[in-house]
Amino acid sequence: MLRQYLYCPRKIYWRDVAKIPRPPTYLMDKGTEFHKRKSDKQYIYKNSLATYREFYIEIQSLRLKAVVDLVVEYTDHLRVVEYKHSIPIPTPKGYLVQLASHVILSEAHFNKPVTTVEVRREGGFHVELIITEENKQEVLQTRDLIEQLMDDGSLPKPCENKRRCYPCEYRRVCKIA
Ligand code: SF4
Repeated sequence: MLRQYLYCPRKIYWRDVAKIPRPPTYLMDKGTEFHKRKSDKQYIYKNSLATYREFYIEIQSLRLKAVVDLVVEYTDHLRVVEYKHSIPIPTPKGYLVQLASHVILSEAHFNKPVTTVEVRREGGFHVELIITEENKQEVLQTRDLIEQLMDDGSLPKPCENKRRCYPCEYRRVCKIA
């Protein structure tokens, strides 16, 4: 929801307030396929390390929850891994804030710092991202904005950047030509 909200708040409105199911798009299909295909064999960690895949974490006091693709637990730190079909450069704000939420949740759950955040793409390509304190603050701010939107229930303004509308699954609902 954080990532969707930062892309365009209307996406959250259509899906979670108006309850209009998300019509699948080519990019969504590719992303789902990739998540199904991603093979643990590609990403082997030493046997001695505890690995948590598709790991659901909910911290009620933070009003945050997520399924983290992979958490690798070392003695005194954690590595958080996210699988993406594509890794745009520069990294969109929504990606950073989504991953910052995974960092916050993992650190709270395991009580250890996350020292590495990695995004992996098919074929072994991966990048490490720096998640800042500012990104963590943005998680909490965006969470509050989403809660407001859900409580308020009114339709947000359309996205100012019309280039975002073209691949959006709610383009027809928004009546964007
Ligand atoms: S079509 Fe554009 S305005 Fe409508 S939800 Fe998608 S991004 Fe937002």
